[in-house]
Amino acid sequence: MSSKITMTTATGCPVADNQNSLTAGPRGPVLLQDQLLLEKMAHFNRERVPERVVHAKGAGAHGVFTVTGDLSRYSRARIFESVGGETPVFVRFSTVAGELGSADTVRDPRGFAIKFYTEEGNWDLVGNNTPVFFVRDPLKFSDFIHSQKRHPVTGRRDAAMQWDFWSLSPESLHQVTILFSDRGIPASLRHMNGYGSHTFSLWNRDGERFWVKWHVKTRQGIRCLSAADAARIAGEDPDHHRRDLYQAIEAGDYPRWTLYAQVMPEREAERMPFDPFDLTKVWPHADHPLIEVGVLELNRNPANYFAEVEQAAFSPANMPPGIGASPDRMLQARLASYPDAQRYRIGVNYNALEVNRPRCPVHSYHRDGQMRFDANGGTGPVYQPNSLDGPVDDPSFREPPLRISGDADRYDHRQGNDDYGQAGDLFRLLDQGQRQELIDNIVDAMRGVPEAIQRRQIGHFMKADPAYGEGVARGLGITG
Ligand code: NDP
Repeated sequence: MSSKITMTTATGCPVADNQNSLTAGPRGPVLLQDQLLLEKMAHFNRERVPERVVHAKGAGAHGVFTVTGDLSRYSRARIFESVGGETPVFVRFSTVAGELGSADTVRDPRGFAIKFYTEEGNWDLVGNNTPVFFVRDPLKFSDFIHSQKRHPVTGRRDAAMQWDFWSLSPESLHQVTILFSDRGIPASLRHMNGYGSHTFSLWNRDGERFWVKWHVKTRQGIRCLSAADAARIAGEDPDHHRRDLYQAIEAGDYPRWTLYAQVMPEREAERMPFDPFDLTKVWPHADHPLIEVGVLELNRNPANYFAEVEQAAFSPANMPPGIGASPDRMLQARLASYPDAQRYRIGVNYNALEVNRPRCPVHSYHRDGQMRFDANGGTGPVYQPNSLDGPVDDPSFREPPLRISGDADRYDHRQGNDDYGQAGDLFRLLDQGQRQELIDNIVDAMRGVPEAIQRRQIGHFMKADPAYGEGVARGLGITG
């Protein structure tokens, strides 16, 4: 017997020969009774889980979050309880529109999803590297994504579809401006910020609720790629961002970010000059300054890409007591659609997978379902209430009421909403070089788009800032 570990089949039977199929004679066909061959082919056919419709291409790492600032007056969440407290995390970064094999250095928002394994259950902050989004009503989300994906006829991404949708959806202007600015292509995942983007809420032990926006600012400094460098790298090293993150962590150069919160008392939302739950808007820093909360460090690479990065399943609905939702309608839709997408993609028991498993005890009454690979609740009761000493609900964790009101209707969200002010503010805070880069990037992307669409979109740039609109019009050779 050799000292090496003997290979087995999936059911543990030793394998005598993994080099030669079972054949009828040395030149004959293979036999159906070669169970090893059948098992290998069948498993291989099933190696892929459905690719995420968005955020398919990702990279991830483990790390730790350390509290540095006191948030306890706003939230009862134990994760914020004590300065110096540490919570393990897993972070997954991603591009949005490209498929699993697509290049990293494309112009696209980046997903920045953090799973905090807190003592009171998982908290997932599932954000992007931009503070706003292209649409504010979830009814438009699938239309938006279709316009950014592949054309139904040509199978290629299509600038005309993209700008047609954007030009007919002026609420996208703020995010479009960020996307085509220098920050549209990060130099690495380590050199970009993350944002929770939505307005969430915090609630404390006194039952007070505060609205909150999260900012995750890189401590490596912002670094971006020019369009030309990004295009070159996409050809030479399509997995550039994955490689950079992995190598930095392997070398002990652990990337770090500072977590900040912008906090607004519940009643103040009613007095805001714009809807503070609108995902296309930021809260100006001057009105709601950043409060430092903690430091996020990534310090361990996954041991297995599929097991950890691909099977990682995030949902903004994962919120421990002290953290809550808000009337942001895009958030409301994501609370439903993210867990639904994971159930479809990796199965109903996805929360029991190692990378998703809470690090605190789980006492739910969910049972059975495909791929139930834990003890399935063992001998415990399967209903509640019960007289069997099973887990019970505890009113001490009760969330204060979320104040909402209004008559049900399909209100026009484009009516009376300023889609131009904040996009213009961003344009004006860029220096001359950045403004020109923004305009050049847009002009490159809009070349070949039907003139009617170009003109409609230039009208939006004009309203944000005349210099913005005139710059793009000049670049495209559009006059009058
Ligand atoms: P501030 O002057 O206080 O903040 C400006 C913000 O702009 C900074 O957070 C800066 O990020 C960010 N920024 C700089 N260059 C770019 C870029 N190319 N793409 C995206 N963001 C960039 O102003 P306000 O808070 O009043 O906001 C003004 C505008 O700044 C907003 O309309 C919005 O477009 C943008 N912004 C605002 C944020 C907010 O939460 N208030 C967050 C991000 C952007 P950094 O500090 O990391 O350099």
